[in-house]
Amino acid sequence: MMEISANDPRLKSWVDVPQGSDFPIQNLPFGVFRTESQLPRVGVAIGDKILDLKALHILGYLENLPFRLEDFLADSLNPMMKQGKKATRDLRNRISKLLRSDMPDLRDREHHVKQVLVSQSEVQMLLPIRVGDYTDFYSSEDHARNVGTMFRDPAKALLPNWKHLPVGYHGRASSIVVSGTPIHRPMGQVNPSDDTPPTFKASGQLDFELEVAFVTFDGKPMGQRISTGEADDYIFGLMLFNDWSARDIQRWEYVPLGPFLAKNFASTVSPWVVTLDALEPFRVPGPVQDPEVLPYLKYEGNKNIDIHLEVGIIPSNGQETIVSRSNYKHMYWNMTQQLAHHTVGGCNIKCGDMMASGTISGPTEGSFGSMLEIAWKGTKPVAMTDGSTRNFILDGDNVVIRGYAEKEGVRVGFGKCEGVVLPAIEF
Ligand code: MN
Repeated sequence: MMEISANDPRLKSWVDVPQGSDFPIQNLPFGVFRTESQLPRVGVAIGDKILDLKALHILGYLENLPFRLEDFLADSLNPMMKQGKKATRDLRNRISKLLRSDMPDLRDREHHVKQVLVSQSEVQMLLPIRVGDYTDFYSSEDHARNVGTMFRDPAKALLPNWKHLPVGYHGRASSIVVSGTPIHRPMGQVNPSDDTPPTFKASGQLDFELEVAFVTFDGKPMGQRISTGEADDYIFGLMLFNDWSARDIQRWEYVPLGPFLAKNFASTVSPWVVTLDALEPFRVPGPVQDPEVLPYLKYEGNKNIDIHLEVGIIPSNGQETIVSRSNYKHMYWNMTQQLAHHTVGGCNIKCGDMMASGTISGPTEGSFGSMLEIAWKGTKPVAMTDGSTRNFILDGDNVVIRGYAEKEGVRVGFGKCEGVVLPAIEF
């Protein structure tokens, strides 16, 4: 496969990229945006700007690539992603070439530049993926251990299967929304005590889950499996993901089939899909897996990725408190293992399927990925900058997830994944 020329750390763009931007020329993440007067279309972030791929295609800059105008004049990335890994890699390499400071083709055509660059501040970002199926894993050992310690037995915090397979469940795709979409606190059944009947009320334990999701290309026909060695070829890119969770509803409903209404009311994703290609320079080794995993879960090479993650809570008064700093490199099970496991029984994956990591907690107290763990089941309230405290998320709180990888002076970031919690709709 063609090399990823777009990742060269020496590259600079003729488009101004502010210091500390998540979107230098080495990133080039894909998203879908619209302006007041224009239809949704595909764009690529560069600095504070967006490169409009629909306009770029019309002006002839994407010739000799397998894309049609309809792939970019679209309200999701799915049509573009239908062309697969090689085509989208070639596309990103082409865009990189057009934006390089030493390439005059687009740079020196001012009338074209005006047509293809738009300010991020002037657009509305849309949900980038038409999500077919959504799967949520449970692949952070520290998270699984924390939850097992809180709710079961510290000596047997991990269930017997946990180190033998990447535990997951099939989630709800219809309620995945783009960053910035307000979320209503869910109503539901809760039953804090075994001695009383359940009641119906607004969740009193609304939580976030700090996660990273990946989105897939079309897979193989049903009945065939994707090996760990093949998995990267089926992954387009990654997004920040908040798997909103209502802990009180979850506690009552989850036995024996797992989460249901505690999680199906909403999940929030960041608008920019950072390609797996752009993240290749930030690969790191994963943890040693002991006991040894079954052959179909073995993998070669560095398959974890060093992505700094943080969660902030901004109450309605506007003062943000960072409540967690974690890292995607802490994952026990990596994406290739998750995909190999998902398909090993013959399950087919499709273009636009979304697979989330599970809550990403680190090993230390400041690095936990949910309020459940940070405030330890409500026993250690979190002090906020404004003097208030939190055990869980309150109405009016904006929960913001940020993430970036950084190496050799190159920062590849995700932008923000945020959502404000509105009061429950009682009826
Ligand atoms: Mn989750």
